[in-house]
Amino acid sequence: MLTEIENKKLAELLFPEVEKTTEYWEEKFPYRKLGKKAEVTRMAPSPTGFIHLGNLYSALADERIAHRHGGVFYLRIEDTDAKRKVDGAVDLIINALRYFNIEFDEGAGFGDDAEQNAYGPYYQTERVEIYHSYAKSLVERGLAYPCFATEEELSKVREEQEENKVLTGYYGKYATWRDKTFAEYEEALKSGAEHVLRLRSQGEEGKEITFHDEIKGDVQLPENIHDIVLLKKDGIPTYHFAHAIDDHLMRTTVVIRGGEWLASVPIHYELFHVLGFKMPKYAHTAHLMKFDEETGGKRKLSKRKDPELSLDFYRKDGYHPHCMKVYLLTLLNSHFEEWHEQHPDEDLNNFPFSVENMSKSGALFDKDKLHNICKNELSRLSEDEVYEFLKTWAEEFEPEKAKLWFADEEKLKSILRLYMGVGAKRRRKDLIFAKQVFELIGYFFGDESEKDEFKLGTEEEKKILAEYLNTFDYADDNSAWFNKLKAVADKLGYASDMKAYKANPEDFKGSVSDIAEAVRISVTGRANTPDLWTIIHIMGEEQMRERINAVLNA
Ligand code: GLU
Repeated sequence: MLTEIENKKLAELLFPEVEKTTEYWEEKFPYRKLGKKAEVTRMAPSPTGFIHLGNLYSALADERIAHRHGGVFYLRIEDTDAKRKVDGAVDLIINALRYFNIEFDEGAGFGDDAEQNAYGPYYQTERVEIYHSYAKSLVERGLAYPCFATEEELSKVREEQEENKVLTGYYGKYATWRDKTFAEYEEALKSGAEHVLRLRSQGEEGKEITFHDEIKGDVQLPENIHDIVLLKKDGIPTYHFAHAIDDHLMRTTVVIRGGEWLASVPIHYELFHVLGFKMPKYAHTAHLMKFDEETGGKRKLSKRKDPELSLDFYRKDGYHPHCMKVYLLTLLNSHFEEWHEQHPDEDLNNFPFSVENMSKSGALFDKDKLHNICKNELSRLSEDEVYEFLKTWAEEFEPEKAKLWFADEEKLKSILRLYMGVGAKRRRKDLIFAKQVFELIGYFFGDESEKDEFKLGTEEEKKILAEYLNTFDYADDNSAWFNKLKAVADKLGYASDMKAYKANPEDFKGSVSDIAEAVRISVTGRANTPDLWTIIHIMGEEQMRERINAVLNA
């Protein structure tokens, strides 16, 4: 054990350039003046250039918790790992979240605006001076020390530990630099050898901490006994050390982060304690899981196997941000679905979101469920809203085709009205996401890419279509038009009366519904569509004849 004076001398040797004290930083970043219930949350991504559904999932939780009661949601960039850094990653994060209407109040990406930088800098690599003040203070108090162990030495110890089947790591008697004399530290430092700074852990083997997680409840975990690295060889902090200092000084009140960090809580517990900080509340989120067809079980969504993990996927295919939000809230909070059903028109932000009700086990990502939500939500939007949304999407992702789709506003709106079932007894729910919408209605714009199969065979089909065209009159109303379909049926040996058909199906080749289907598939390419007469009247006679003639001449 070093004496108090030796600790001070060691701290001075290690950090001669550090002048600012921890008190200085405490004063510079005072507790925030917020209402009683207000929470401060943050998103703290590493700038790897990949932003995924899991990020959006927890960002939404952060944002909701902060903004429920006038708190603050800020963005901190954890860029201590130079190897993973990607240029433009911060803009990517901000833009991706903005698309889903999730806005930060403060933090990285705000330029020079003083108010939104009050607790910055928000890039960890710009905070090294701060970390060093705290590191120095720990050394002064005998709670941290330099460690000169080389990689080879460390892996040798590890092998030995594995052989003897004891806990691996740098702790207790294996922590060879923990109890050196001042002279030994001094000599090693003077030699200029590389070193890291380690915590001199105060934990005891066999003891446990009880830790309260906002989602998981009380959790018992073994006390930390490892002399973990605080500063790496280059003086850059580890995640653990930076997390404690940043969340303390930025005055975070709730840390929402991935469940993979739960096992590190004992380290953070000790760090907050030795640094004299009050711990924030923690909520460790469940992983997003997916049903795996191969194994029949659940598995984590993976970057490699699941394109739908990337947020880009949802923008490229044109998922409406509101639908995504409804879906994610459904995944995040068990009470949300019922609330939304009871208050379908209420602003989603009025939902009483709570951390406690967040999903404890892995939330299951289910595309069918997402699509059902999309169908429901889109059917509730006005036709103007859907039109504007599709237009914005198409101009970005299908600029060439957009010219055709949006050349005639009234036409497209009539199509949307039809597919959204506006005014119908039972609203249709056909629309899911922008790309799918244009696949669905593409035939109005000459898209022939997809055709359902004719049931009756080509020759029969052609007979029906020729007869249909013969008697077709654009001026007919819906019922006159349908009567003509019936006449075609009678003429060609199909039942025009469904009751008669059902009673004696063997007397007929089929029924009027087969006639309608033949026309429908020829005109639209699909066996299933909204009202065919209306489709023909939006499309116009010329295009209808063209499409039918194409089948006849094939
Ligand atoms: N940079 C960490 C990560 O991306 C943040 C974890 C946290 O939110 O504290 O996993």
